Amino acid sequence: MSVLEIRRVGDPVLRERAHALSPDELADPEVQRLIDDMIETMRAAGGAGLAANQVGSLRRIAVVEVSHNPRYPYKPPIPLTVIVNPRIEPLDDEELLINEGCLSVPDLRGDVPRRLTVRVHHLDREGRRQTLTARGLTAGTFQHEVDHLDGVLFLDRVRDPRSFSTWAEFERHGRQAFLRRVAPYTAGAAE
Ligand code: ZN
Repeated sequence: MSVLEIRRVGDPVLRERAHALSPDELADPEVQRLIDDMIETMRAAGGAGLAANQVGSLRRIAVVEVSHNPRYPYKPPIPLTVIVNPRIEPLDDEELLINEGCLSVPDLRGDVPRRLTVRVHHLDREGRRQTLTARGLTAGTFQHEVDHLDGVLFLDRVRDPRSFSTWAEFERHGRQAFLRRVAPYTAGAAE
């Protein structure tokens, strides 16, 4: 396994739509190696998730994992999940304003409205159909990754540009209010 280079905002590959994989394509050892490398790259960078576009591949694959993440200590844990050909189904009309960052957008965070509760339809890495239901910050993480596969960055969804901040300024000025706002959805996480 190897840690791959993470593409940064301005790289056109982040603005392209990733292509769905057939079962045969998914079973290809090269694609299985890409998935392993994406997991290793996400862990090495301390990300909560990583989409294939972010390592320069236009395959519709993302990986998500949260366990005691130092970048996002307030996020509830998410077991390692590989989502292939994912589709997001919102389960209600409620929104949650989530302060997000992105490995492809260094040192910037901003408030993004996300659907509060979603169902994610996807294949696992063996090609089996799966669905998972996510709520709150976890739902936001899955929406962020599926956005990448559609060429969308969190920057595009920030409704109030005044919410942009560096990571250090977020710690200093934004974190407390944000944690109060999302308190019902951070159970199980360290603050
Ligand atoms: Zn991202």
